[in-house]
Amino acid sequence: MPIRELPAHLVNQIAAGEVVERPASVVKELLENSLDAGASRIEVELEEAGVKLCRVRDDGTGIPRDELALALARHATSKISSLEELEHVATLGFRGEALPSIASVSRLRITSRERSADSGFMLDGADCDGVSPAAHPPGTTVEVRDLFFNTPARRRFLRSERTEFGRVREVIERIALSRSSLALRITHNHRQILDLPAAVTPAELVDRVSRVCGREFTDNAIYVQRESGGMLLRGWLVRPVHARSQPDLQYMILNGRAIRDKLLAGAVRAGYRDVLYRDRWPAFVLYLDMDPAWVDVNAHPAKQEVRFREPGPVRDFVRRTVEAAIAEPAAAGVGPHDFGAHAASSVVARQSPLAFAMPVSPGRVREQLASYSRLAAPAAAEDHSAPLGYALAQLHGVYILAQNANGLVIVDAHAAHERISYERLKATVRQSSVQVQTLLVPPVLAVSEREAGQVEQHGELLERCGFLLSRVAPDRVAVRGIPALLTGVDPGMLVRELLPGLSGDLVLDDLLNVLDRVLAGSACHAAIRANRRLTIEEMNSLLRDMERTERSDQCNHGRPTLVALSMSELDQLFARGR
Ligand code: ADP
Ligand code: MG
Repeated sequence: MPIRELPAHLVNQIAAGEVVERPASVVKELLENSLDAGASRIEVELEEAGVKLCRVRDDGTGIPRDELALALARHATSKISSLEELEHVATLGFRGEALPSIASVSRLRITSRERSADSGFMLDGADCDGVSPAAHPPGTTVEVRDLFFNTPARRRFLRSERTEFGRVREVIERIALSRSSLALRITHNHRQILDLPAAVTPAELVDRVSRVCGREFTDNAIYVQRESGGMLLRGWLVRPVHARSQPDLQYMILNGRAIRDKLLAGAVRAGYRDVLYRDRWPAFVLYLDMDPAWVDVNAHPAKQEVRFREPGPVRDFVRRTVEAAIAEPAAAGVGPHDFGAHAASSVVARQSPLAFAMPVSPGRVREQLASYSRLAAPAAAEDHSAPLGYALAQLHGVYILAQNANGLVIVDAHAAHERISYERLKATVRQSSVQVQTLLVPPVLAVSEREAGQVEQHGELLERCGFLLSRVAPDRVAVRGIPALLTGVDPGMLVRELLPGLSGDLVLDDLLNVLDRVLAGSACHAAIRANRRLTIEEMNSLLRDMERTERSDQCNHGRPTLVALSMSELDQLFARGR
């Protein structure tokens, strides 16, 4: 076949393959257009889940008569005019392909009246030249009939009316949550399905969330609101005990756009990490706002997925905010106090999130780390204090390479993990909150009678440190439990190494010193072994743990755990003048 240009209609039908997958996608595109037109009230009428009819009527700005035909032309949009504008786009649409795509696979009619005009006009999709006068209040009605009537293959892919309507409902609910100030009414097969008034006051907002997500959710949710580094996160998080068995109640609204994003959902889940049973999922309705320039929304034809320019700080901010809210639900409060209309631009500072990372000069890394016991004051510890930066890669399974504000940070993962385990154990011992891993089949060690006597003598102290040891014979000691933090270490070997240090009168600190020495050996076995591959996520969480851990710049053997090279040091290495 010779090369030739495809006719416009066919191009639109091909594009429709991506944009218009099912009736729910039509509803989504039409609702988004109404929102972009500044609508405060939208009415949706559906028949047969939107396949037979989907009519969306809004009170937005309307479309001028002479632009009606353009609205149906491919790549025609009023929302952006340059690449620069695309980078800061704040509207939901911008690709200019929804209406022409929908029109190519249905019978579409658009009727609109500009607010300033005294009459409306109508255009039939099939007849792009024929604009005719029509009675219409200010705003726009788009009517889509007989979806996929001319693309039978598509039509065959549709599921039952019930299933398709379920998807439509999901779309509508996501939009209802993403724009609380919007009044929304939906009918399906002439029955009213939803009638939501505009929500503005805190009580109205909570009411709206509970109408969409159920009382069960709002009754058991914590309200969170935190701003940091040019990002604002607010919304509701379910209390951990009410977590769900499926990830089916997770709404993330980024700059007013309901999105499905693995990174953000993962960050929320990570925030629940310590408090969630396995197989349980958090439920949340969260609003994240930031400079639109930090996000690429043009990563997906239906714009449900996004790409962050610097995902690390975003993920960290979300995870930390969630973690803190769950840790201190009392401080988090229950309802929104300052939950104005969506206004991404009011929050934004045109600055990269990483610019908020604390500056760390290489010579001062140790001092900085040593001073992290400041971390007791949560206020100061917030924001983007990621002095150790974000992981780039792992070198030969041993070293983590990370980039921070100043340059390069190299971390010995194995040594760092060892230090963190020990510091944690020490901290929990001091708070008397050591978790014990009891052993179903306690190993029995053959020891000297003197050693067995010492185990008896120091039983209480050992127990405070998480060691459950009992003398089962004059020269036998059974290991019934070890600190859960040391799970993975051979318990018998661990206790054997501990025994020689138990001589004489011991106080807790002495025992901790003994443990420190023991762990310098044993923790190494439990700690991340050299040559184990870590994911970027694991590496970042190790870096964050290091930042939180006292003395994490040296391992239990006193070797350094990290080396930092600033950009200027690197420049010098390469004899590169700056
Ligand atoms: P996009 O939303 O990406 O710009 P669409 O094909 O969805 O592309 O819409 C094309 C144009 O039609 C929009 O840019 C807008 O100017 C106009 N338009 C569509 N729907 C409406 C509406 N409900 N109210 C006002 N203008 C609309
Ligand atoms: Mg659009």
